[in-house]
Amino acid sequence: MTPRIADVLIPLALDTAYSYAVPDGLLLAEGDVVQVPLGTREVVGVVWALRPGPGGNFKPVTARVDAPALSSSMRKFLDWVAWYTLAPKGSALGMGLKLPDPDRAEMVRVGVRLAGPAPARITPTRQRVLAVAADGLVRLKRDLAHEAGVSTGVIDGLVDEGTLETVALKPEPAAERPDPDYHQTGLSDEQRDAAAALVGFMGEQPPPVALLEGVTGSGKTEVYFEAVAEAVRQGRQALILMPEIALTAQFLDRFTARFGVRPASWHSGVTGRKRERIYAGIASGDVQVVAGARSALFLPYSDLGLIVVDEEHETAYKQEDGVHYHARDMAVVRGRIENAAVILASATPSIESRTNVERGRYRHVRLPERYGGRQMPQIRTIDLKTETIPPGRWLSPSLITAMHETLGRGEQVLLFLNRRGYAPLTLCRACAHRYECPNCSAWLVEHRFRRSLVCHHCGHVERTPQACIACGTVDSLTSCGPGVERIAEEAAELFPNQRRIVLSSDFPGGTERLRTELAAIAAGECDIVIGTQLVAKGHNFPLMTLVGVLDADIGLTSGDPRAAERTFQLLQQVTGRAGRGEKPGRALVQTWQPAHPVIAALASGEAERFYAEETRVRQLAGLPPFGRLASLIVSAVDREAAELHARAMAKVAEPSAGITVLGPAEAPLALIRGRYRYRLLVKTDREVDLQAYLRAWLARCPKPRGSVRIAIDVDPQSFL
Ligand code: ADP
Ligand code: ZN
Repeated sequence: MTPRIADVLIPLALDTAYSYAVPDGLLLAEGDVVQVPLGTREVVGVVWALRPGPGGNFKPVTARVDAPALSSSMRKFLDWVAWYTLAPKGSALGMGLKLPDPDRAEMVRVGVRLAGPAPARITPTRQRVLAVAADGLVRLKRDLAHEAGVSTGVIDGLVDEGTLETVALKPEPAAERPDPDYHQTGLSDEQRDAAAALVGFMGEQPPPVALLEGVTGSGKTEVYFEAVAEAVRQGRQALILMPEIALTAQFLDRFTARFGVRPASWHSGVTGRKRERIYAGIASGDVQVVAGARSALFLPYSDLGLIVVDEEHETAYKQEDGVHYHARDMAVVRGRIENAAVILASATPSIESRTNVERGRYRHVRLPERYGGRQMPQIRTIDLKTETIPPGRWLSPSLITAMHETLGRGEQVLLFLNRRGYAPLTLCRACAHRYECPNCSAWLVEHRFRRSLVCHHCGHVERTPQACIACGTVDSLTSCGPGVERIAEEAAELFPNQRRIVLSSDFPGGTERLRTELAAIAAGECDIVIGTQLVAKGHNFPLMTLVGVLDADIGLTSGDPRAAERTFQLLQQVTGRAGRGEKPGRALVQTWQPAHPVIAALASGEAERFYAEETRVRQLAGLPPFGRLASLIVSAVDREAAELHARAMAKVAEPSAGITVLGPAEAPLALIRGRYRYRLLVKTDREVDLQAYLRAWLARCPKPRGSVRIAIDVDPQSFL
């Protein structure tokens, strides 16, 4: 056997694979998961390359690990992600490699059923167990205990006596096979054409990227389901990416109605054995359809034929810690590598995707009308300069009147304000002290329900004090501005008999409870929903006919180059919650700037005008997608250290045609979690090889020392 060397990539922040000798008798292939020594430890890595050569100088590979190997296309994808984002290759691998937990061997599920004679000693608890088990069915031990209202010890006792017997059960399957012909949805003509176009793309070589642009309520989901069905028919896998919370019971039900079974879901809430089984099922091809959050893009599909990115404009697709990547953009790359079609779906596509359509790189499929002849909501602005609202109140008289009308008809109202908590700023009336986070340059937000002041950047929480911490005056604190909790208080005063719910990411009970609440709202179990962007997107509330936007201008003033686009998308989405059922809907938008192009385009329904104007502005400014950006954030525990390091970096940035390095400047959020932050921004022409420039520059930069860290963000979405 020729001696061989294995270059093994380890899922740590390392940029290169380390070489190991392949011991005689160990059969290895590229992509295999192996155990290797690293320093004094044993770690797990993946064979990135195998090459001939004497392994004498290297430590040997310890063993092959029994885990799914990573295919060459998966490895190519991870290499690409690392190259593009400038993340260490090992960090990219860390997102793709999930290992079975050796300490948690497959738990054998044990069922019990009635088997033998009644026990010698009968107690009331035993009696209850026997009554439940009398039907002779096999139940999980804990289910039987639960149904009988006894502890599992009682069950064990009955097993010992031979009254019950144990039966080994097969492990729960990761996911059942979706049936592409389970239920054919009756599509409208328009939907059928769109679906046929998408299915047609899947037969092309190479399959293209398509932007599926359809107004809210046009039935994009039903349409892309046809493409999913096509992938399943071809025996290939389909991935549906969604912003995490959009994975509602509603979506799963719709999928089940179409395909007969649920898709495998993948998000942060899926853990333990279930996670391992889905991972293995995806690697083996047993799992055919996955619906998941952005991390699902890094699963080891055996034959991926389709990726759908639902709500492709969503900022939730950008990961802003660890490897800074945009799941939509990486989905396009993965699609190319896997020879899979990609569908980007949105009612309000990103300027980037629209521009790619214009450049002829993406196909365009449109659904300009709502399904079933439903009308788009009527949108009217309420000018806050002319319609006065009493101080400390936020609902205008016109909005209140409309609420009375809507609620009087038994329909639902959504009040939208993109601010969590009770009030964004708390200050002392006596000494004017403002309550600020000790770790961040940010005000503390009052959460009245929790009686706390909370930092939305680092999670710092303190109890709302009785007396001002600065001057000691009792009961002197005053809340400035509204958050959703405060709006709920006002709504409760005005509409005491209506059922209300406040929904934001602070909602207690986590994602699962939130999903339950969303389903309850859809079922009409609530009259007034007060919510942040969490409720604004993707959901279908058939009884909701009035949407009130409390402060349409909130997002317009930030320094973010995408501020206008984001505001337009968000307002379009939230107003799009109105009138999705049988009854027509309307939206009332409270604004200080009714003439602002974003608000005007929204009110007149002229989305095309907005896109044309915004695209022109971006082009003039050379901003993405007409130019490229990367931001580098230098942070340190010590302000001066961060600033000096950032300056030293700027000094060695080489001038180059088509490239501008801006900064360093103190970041708008100058302090987060006790770290001071300085920003450098690299802005280049579109043709420039941004990654090559960044690599060469970083190689010349001084190495960060002490607490100094550099975070690199290619195509930044956040400018804070
Ligand atoms: P979008 O995602 O485009 O906003 P949805 O896919 O959520 O729209 O569809 C809006 C509503 O219309 C949903 O309740 C959906 O079930 C319904 N719908 C869409 N198309 C059809 C169809 N062909 N048959 C029955 N119901 C449909
Ligand atoms: Zn903080």
